[in-house]
Amino acid sequence: MIKNLLHSIIVCPDWTKNYPKIEYGKGVYLYDNVGKRYLDASSGSAAVSNLGHGLTEIGDVINEQVRKATILPTHTFSSEIVETYLEKLVSFSPKGFKRAWTCMSGTEAVENSLKAALQYQQLIGQNKRHKIISRWFSYHGNSIFTLDVGGMKYRRGMYEKWLHNFPHISPAYKYRYGEGMTDGEYTDWCIKEFIQCIESNDPDTIAAFIAEPVVGAALGAVPPPKDYFKKIRKICDNYGILLISDEVMTGFGRLGTPFGIEKFGVTPDIIASGKGISGGYFPLSAILLHERIANTFEENQSSFKGGHTFACNPVGAAVGNFVIDYIKDNNLLKNVNNMGICLKQQLKELEKFELVGDVRGEGLLLGIELVKDKYTKQPFPIENDIGQRIFNDALKHGVILYPGKGSVDGVLGNHILICPPLTVNKSEILEIAGTLQLVIKNAEEAMSISY
Ligand code: PLP
Repeated sequence: MIKNLLHSIIVCPDWTKNYPKIEYGKGVYLYDNVGKRYLDASSGSAAVSNLGHGLTEIGDVINEQVRKATILPTHTFSSEIVETYLEKLVSFSPKGFKRAWTCMSGTEAVENSLKAALQYQQLIGQNKRHKIISRWFSYHGNSIFTLDVGGMKYRRGMYEKWLHNFPHISPAYKYRYGEGMTDGEYTDWCIKEFIQCIESNDPDTIAAFIAEPVVGAALGAVPPPKDYFKKIRKICDNYGILLISDEVMTGFGRLGTPFGIEKFGVTPDIIASGKGISGGYFPLSAILLHERIANTFEENQSSFKGGHTFACNPVGAAVGNFVIDYIKDNNLLKNVNNMGICLKQQLKELEKFELVGDVRGEGLLLGIELVKDKYTKQPFPIENDIGQRIFNDALKHGVILYPGKGSVDGVLGNHILICPPLTVNKSEILEIAGTLQLVIKNAEEAMSISY
C-alpha cells in the first residue's frame, strides 16, 4: 500500500510524495494548509488563472446563475445569457469572426475545431479532404484524435498503435533548428518543408493545418520568426487548406492581444480556445468560426455535428462573460504588454548563467531552455532532471514554475515556462525573477560537482 497516494493526483509522477494542500488563493498567490504562501508563476496548469485567484465577484456571478438555471435542454432552448456571451465572444475575436460555440476543455475545443474543419470541407464538396497537418513538439490535447494531431512524443508513446494517421512538420524553433540562418532564411526553410509535406501527401486530401501561435508547454514558449504565419496563411490559401489557431494557451490576453495569432498579423479560419477563457473559475472552452466558414454552414442550413452535454452551458457563459468584461475594465492587455516586457528583461539577465541556453516568449508566456553546455546547446542527461530540480527549489522558496521536457528530441531537453496571472505587478515580477536567480545559481553550484 503506497501511503501517500492521493486520489486527486493519481496521474502525478511521484506517488510517494506528500503534496502540499492548497487552502485558498488571492491574486497571484496560493496559500497552503500550513500557511505557506506561493507565487503562482504557472497560473494553474498552466496559463489558466489569467485574472488571479480568489476573485469573489466570480463567486457571485456563479451563484446568481446557478440560482437561475445551470443546464438547458439545448435540443429545444437557448437562453439570453448564452446568446449574449457568444456575441461578446465573437466581438472579442479577430475581425471577420462570426460564430462561437462553447465546450468544457481545451481538448474538446481543439477536437471540435478539427471536426468543424472536416465538416466544412465536406459541405463545400471536398470530400477527400480528411488529413490534418500539424507540427512536432506541439500539444493539442489528450484525446486520441488530438494526441495524434499533436506532436509530443512522450505523451503519444503508449498510444502508438492508435496514432500516425496525420502528417507532421517541424516546429518553427530557430534556437534548435535554425542555427546559422537569418530569420528570413529559416522561415523559408520551414515553408519549403510545409509545401513538401502537402505535395507528398496528396494536396486534395488535406483539410487543415493546426498550430499554436507560440508553442506553450511542449517547448517552453517558443514564438515563430516574424513572417512565419503570414507565409503559412498564403500556402494554406493556395492549397484550400484551413488554418486553425490553437489558442488554448495563447488566447484571452496571454500574449497581450485578445488572441495570440493577432500578434503575427494573420487571421485564421478557426480558433480553439480554453484555459484563460474562464480564468480557471469554470471548465470552459470554445471554438470560433470565421465568417468564411460560418457562412458555409448557414448557406447549407447545416448544424455543426459536434455535441456535448455541457456545450453552451449557462454557468460557463456567465463566467466567460465576466472574464471578457474584467479583461477590458482592468486594462489587462496593457498590463500584459508592460509586465511582459519587464519580466522578459529580468529573465534575460539569467542568460549570464551557464545552464540558461535561451530566454524567449511573448507577453506573459515566457520560457527558459536549460542546457548542459551553452555553446553546443547540449541538453542535460535525463537522470539530471534539471527542470524538476529547479522547480522543486523554487517551490521551496515560494514560487510555482511549470517545468517541461523533451524539447530536443521528444525525450531529452528541459525548459521552464513562466506564465503568471495577467494581473501580476512589478514587485511580483521581481519576486519571480529574484527566486529564479537564486534557484538557478543553486542548481549551477550543485551541478558543478557532477558536470
Ligand atoms: N492545446 C494547447 C495549446 C494546450 O496547451 C492544452 C493544454 O495544456 C490543450 C490544447 C488541451 O487543453 P485541456 O487540458 O484543457 O484539455
